[in-house]
Parts: sequence; C-alpha cells; structure tokens
Amino acid sequence: MKKLALHWKILIGMVLGILFGFWMTAYSWGPEFVKDWISPFGTIFVRLLKLIAIPLILASLIKGISDLKDISKFSNIGLRTIGIYIVTTIIAITIGLILVNIIQPGDGISEETVARLSNTYAEDSGVQSKITEAGKDRGPLQFLVDMVPDNALKAMGTNSLMLQVIFFAIFLGISMLLIGEKPAKPLKDFFDSLNDVVLKMVDLIMLSAPFAVFALLAQVVVTAGDPEILKRLLSYSGVVLFGLILMIGFYVTIVSVFTKRNPFWFLNKISPAQLLAFSTSSSAATLPVTMERVEEHIGVDKEVSSFVLPVGATINMDGTSLYQAVASVFIMQVLWPEGLTMGNQLTIVLTALLASIGSAAVPGAGMVMLVIVLEAVGFPPDKLPIALALIFAVDRPLDMCRTVINVTGDATVSMLVAKSVGKLGEPNVKEWDDHYDEVK
Ligand code: ASP
Repeated sequence: MKKLALHWKILIGMVLGILFGFWMTAYSWGPEFVKDWISPFGTIFVRLLKLIAIPLILASLIKGISDLKDISKFSNIGLRTIGIYIVTTIIAITIGLILVNIIQPGDGISEETVARLSNTYAEDSGVQSKITEAGKDRGPLQFLVDMVPDNALKAMGTNSLMLQVIFFAIFLGISMLLIGEKPAKPLKDFFDSLNDVVLKMVDLIMLSAPFAVFALLAQVVVTAGDPEILKRLLSYSGVVLFGLILMIGFYVTIVSVFTKRNPFWFLNKISPAQLLAFSTSSSAATLPVTMERVEEHIGVDKEVSSFVLPVGATINMDGTSLYQAVASVFIMQVLWPEGLTMGNQLTIVLTALLASIGSAAVPGAGMVMLVIVLEAVGFPPDKLPIALALIFAVDRPLDMCRTVINVTGDATVSMLVAKSVGKLGEPNVKEWDDHYDEVK
C-alpha cells in the first residue's frame, strides 16, 4: 500500500466502508455489529484529530503571529482574510438562492409526503433538540461576547470554544510581538517546537485514515434513514449538491486566475482533507489535516495559513450557508409559500451569512442555525418542527458534502491571501517517517 497516494487509500477505504455498510444492512444483526465493533474505530480517529486541534491552533497561530515581526502585517492579513471570507460566503448564498428559485424543488412535494415526514420526524428528539438549541436567548452582539473567553484554560478545555482559543492565541501572539524578540524568545521556541510536534502527530494519525473512513462510512450507511423518503427529497438534495459543485467550480477558477496554479493540482493536493471532511462532517476535526495539506503540500506560508485556516474553519462556511439558503427557501416553498417575498430572500442572505459564521464546525451545526434563518424571516414557529422534519432525513449526507465545500473554501482563501501578500511558495512535504531512521 505504501506507494499508493493517500487520497486513493482514503477513497478505497470509503468505498469499501459504504459497501460493507450496505452488506451489513442485509442482516438483522448487521447494524448492531457495525455499531459495536466497527464504528468505535471511526470515533477514535475523530477523537484523535480533535485531540490535537486545540494544541495545533494555539501553537500555529502563536507561531504565525510572532513570526510576523510587526503588527501591521497581521492586520493586513486579517482584514484581507475576513473580507474574502465574507465575499465568498455571499456568493455561495446567492448561488443557492438563484438555484432554489429557478428549480423550485419544493413544488413537487405532496401533502402526503409532508404528513409522512412530520409523523416520522417531528417528534424526533434530534429535531426537537435542534430547535431548543437554536432557541437559546441570544442578543445581536452575543456572538462577540461568546468570542472572548473569561477563562483561558476552560476555553482550551472545550472543543466547541474554538473561537475563544483563537482569540486568546491572537492576543498572546500580538503581545509577544510587542515585548520584542528577546524576551519573547523562550515562549516562541516552545510554541515553534509544539507546532512541529503536532504536525508530526497529524502525519501519524493520517496513517490510520483509510481504515477510519471505512468505519465512519459503514456507520453512516447502517444508520441512514428511510430510502423512500430520501427519494422524495431528491430534488431538494439535488439543488444543494448542484450548488456545492458550482462552488467547487468557483474555487478552482479563482485559484487558477489569482494564483496561476493548476486547479487539478490544487484539488489533488487538498483531496485528503476533502475526503476527511466528507467522512467526519466536521471542519474542526478536519482542520489539522487541512493545515498540513495547505502548508506542506500546497506551499502556503505558515504566517498566512496559521491564521486563515483556524479562523476559516469556524467562521467561513460557504457550503453551510449555501445549504441554509436552499433549505430555507425549500421549506418555505412547501410550508409557507406566502412568505417567499423578495425582502425575505434578502433577509436570508444576511442571516445565512451570520448563521454560517455562527455555526460550530461540527456535524449537524448548519441545521441548528437554519432555525435562526427561518425565525429571521418570520416563519411560523408552530411549523418549525415540521420544517426541520422535512429535511432531517437527508441532512447527514448533505452535511458531509457541505463540509467538503467549507474546507475547500478555507484552503482556497488561504491561497488567495498568501498570494496577495507574497507568501505562496513551493510545497515542502514532510512524511511521517522523516527522521524515523535516526531514532530507530
Ligand atoms: N458540519 C459542518 C462543518 O463542520 C457544519 C454544518 O454545516 O453543519 O463544517
């Protein structure tokens, strides 16, 4: 297996996992077997990735910022990054809205399907918990408050508080710049070394990726919902998928126009991160791999990637925002056609932008924030459970796909920002077994 490129190994693992999952559904004991004996290996893999996410963000952001030597460079990169993120997200939402308005996937859905879906899912604890989660009382500036930790250690101890860790790391990095090179050196050496070590951990974890995605996908297949319902939602899912594919087209175009790199080369290099995003449905879990691919295999300088990627994983979700735009209009087409005004569609652009910024980089988060988009346009609250029930059955597969776009979008923007500040260099691949002979 050594010579096969990593993305092929992962792809083979995925295909075998899907086949195995289908095979197991043929037996009454199959799903239980997968749950007990196969899926834990996938869970362990995701845990390993999450385990190193916080140390990696901390080390790489602090290293990235303290390497800058002066603060104006940081604000330069920061402003470009946020600006480009907002633009790509608005483009994604616009694509979603145009498609869903032209194709109108909600039109073919019969009353009977709506009734069937609401019977199946409206009481489902998954749907209910999403509504409650989104319903927490939140003022308009709460997201800013949430970004600032009141306890650094607590922030680092909780994966869902990634933005707080980013805030702390940026704050620390800037302060290190301000005290000057000499006094900051011990701390800088520490984080530089931590950063190298964590990237080596990524290499090691990735050795198990082909097996892990087998387990993850087998689990997805055996827990998938009613195929009949999936079929009925085909045209809605088709619109989301079509939009996501257009986004890939958009990314490769801007990569080739602005960075002059071959788009296929770009997709090839980033593919292991995309495949993991697909298998884990989590940009946060994929982040260590995205960083490794972008830095070592694409050649984006650490100064740029260390800021752009962790921030992107949490706030830049083009796939999620496109999905939210399509899903909200689809739901309105089916359940509340009178609400489909131009004004409401503009509200969707704004709220889907904010909602995708606010979505956590974990499986299913986009659907929670969809509730907020629907509430913003004044969707009748009593129909919310039915609304979510309507799209719940296909949410997981769509989540897998939109996460791929989220990750690809972050990688694309990191290349653009790097190019614009002269920090897009040549790849410098470090394999897991570099130095292995020395220690053997
Ligand atoms: N799973 C997505 C991510 O982690 C978020 C979402 O759309 O649910 O990027």
